[in-house]
Amino acid sequence: MTSRRTRERMVARLRQQGISNNQVLQVMAQIPRHVFVDEALESRAYEDTALPIGHNQTISQPYIVAKMTELLLERGPLDKVLEIGTGCGYQTAVLAKLVGQLYTVERIAPLMKKARDLLWELDIKTVGFKHSDGGWGWPEHAPFDGILAAAAPVEIPEALLQQLAPGGVMVIPVGPEGWQELHRITRTANGFEDEVLERVSFVPFLSGIS
Ligand code: SAH
Repeated sequence: MTSRRTRERMVARLRQQGISNNQVLQVMAQIPRHVFVDEALESRAYEDTALPIGHNQTISQPYIVAKMTELLLERGPLDKVLEIGTGCGYQTAVLAKLVGQLYTVERIAPLMKKARDLLWELDIKTVGFKHSDGGWGWPEHAPFDGILAAAAPVEIPEALLQQLAPGGVMVIPVGPEGWQELHRITRTANGFEDEVLERVSFVPFLSGIS
């Protein structure tokens, strides 16, 4: 149920769903997704579904992790990347294997701590973690070549737009609960290009920490 073969079946399904970036697929075939969920849910970890991770939050479904990562990397490799909403750390682990330097911000302290410990156990030791409201970004490390958010704001926080490097790409769900769309924002020489990609369903982007 939790073997390499199960992961390969997940990857085959992702291909059928239209994911074509081989690097992304390879990394998802490697990373044990079941260790990011509660033991009781382990056998469901490779289903194409979101699962609870406590604190009213969910691990994103494999398709959406793959899709967002592919969209982020579509125009070439990225050096410095910011992730908002570490959650259980699965998307963090995937990104860490594909970008130069990854920073991740989570507003719920126990989730952040658990993800940090888990990544360390998986020998992923280069990620910068911060317990903070991601609406502020991470100004000390800005600008970023890529930003990926795993929670949906109603409007994109201005700080995140400002912390995007010229040519940088942000993949973010936007909209109220029940009506969210995935956006890819690219910072251009004279502003921002906004592509609206598909309907999605994410937990809300909340302000403050807990
Ligand atoms: N990719 C993660 C998704 C977790 S759900 C995973 O697969 O586990 C989204 C996460 O975003 C939650 O953990 C939630 O606490 C966090 N979040 C929501 N609003 C936030 C904010 N303003 N700053 C930082 N994290 C936030």
